[in-house]
Amino acid sequence: MNWGLIGASTIAAGHMISAIRSCAGNQIISVLSANAERGAEYAKTHDIRSSTTDLEAMLADPNLDAVYISTTNEKHKFQALAAIAAGKHVLCEKPLAMSCADALEMVNAAEEAGVVLATNHHLRNAGSHLKIKELIDAGRIGNVQAVRVFHAVYLPESLQGWRINSAAAGGGVIPDIVVHDADTVGFHLGEYPLEVTAIEASGSLGQGVEDSVMSVWKMPSGILVQTHEGFTLRHAETGLEFHGTKGSIIAKNVMTQQPIGQVELRTADGVEEIKFSDHNLYARSIDHFMGAVAGQGQPAATGRDGVRSLAVAAAVKQAATTGTRVAVNYGG
Ligand code: NDP
Repeated sequence: MNWGLIGASTIAAGHMISAIRSCAGNQIISVLSANAERGAEYAKTHDIRSSTTDLEAMLADPNLDAVYISTTNEKHKFQALAAIAAGKHVLCEKPLAMSCADALEMVNAAEEAGVVLATNHHLRNAGSHLKIKELIDAGRIGNVQAVRVFHAVYLPESLQGWRINSAAAGGGVIPDIVVHDADTVGFHLGEYPLEVTAIEASGSLGQGVEDSVMSVWKMPSGILVQTHEGFTLRHAETGLEFHGTKGSIIAKNVMTQQPIGQVELRTADGVEEIKFSDHNLYARSIDHFMGAVAGQGQPAATGRDGVRSLAVAAAVKQAATTGTRVAVNYGG
């Protein structure tokens, strides 16, 4: 399959170019950047055949099958809609768009055009998370009663651009990280929150956008979820806990881009360390995307999954801004 990169980004350079190339038959034939010189340099560094600043010209290439969109968040919608209109399959970064309504428009456009639109929620591809889901689905902890998500760490200096100073580009920890947590919890429980409360703060990094938030979600089944996302904690570790009637799953260092961490199952029988696969998260995302394009199954996270995670993040933002309890609007 021939791929184009929309966005000469850090995530593409660090993870996605190698993930795309790890699947047999994949080639990256073009990259789009708003800056011609930077785009040419990026293409040279990553051995990509061509670079362009012209989205329409890139999409007019009949050899191009799919695009991976990893520009800043405010650009995802118009770039995805253009790619879909050109008949290309789209793997888009999270958050899919700046609003749930915009994300739904993208999903509907892809369905009408008969192309695949997927969301690059990487965590549900991790061996740790796949194993946690298996344990929950097998009833190893009984009925889940409560979930705690720890996803507040320190944002590396190299990423401290638009994320900490530009609401217009989709900055702030809520669009950046809450979407991942909503997707991950939704993946594990098979349900998404009905309503949320939240308090946000702008501490040492946020300039006009929040750099930390804590929220509480109520699930349709009654399960309570507590989450903490942040950019400013230098010595904290990520984690995820599921507490059920028969046991608990305690996972440490699993809300990350790497196939690492520890998963423990605690029951009346004692504490069991759970082994899991250490495959590359992003390569699995590409593998499933390619399967979906070939008509074999769904992407790991669909466009609709991206709508759901964004709807939760939007509700958390509204709850934090208004100080009220907010019903999540998934847009029908
Ligand atoms: P970057 O800031 O690296 O890239 C975003 C845009 O900024 C690029 O498209 C590029 O514009 C421009 N840019 C990048 N580097 C430079 C530079 N050195 N000088 C000038 N401009 C530059 O963002 P990320 O890669 O961190 O994030 C991109 C998207 O991916 C976001 O939507 C984010 O939410 C998502 N993401 C997802 C992750 C995941 O695990 N699923 C992890 C990280 C990010 P141009 O293309 O015009 O050159």
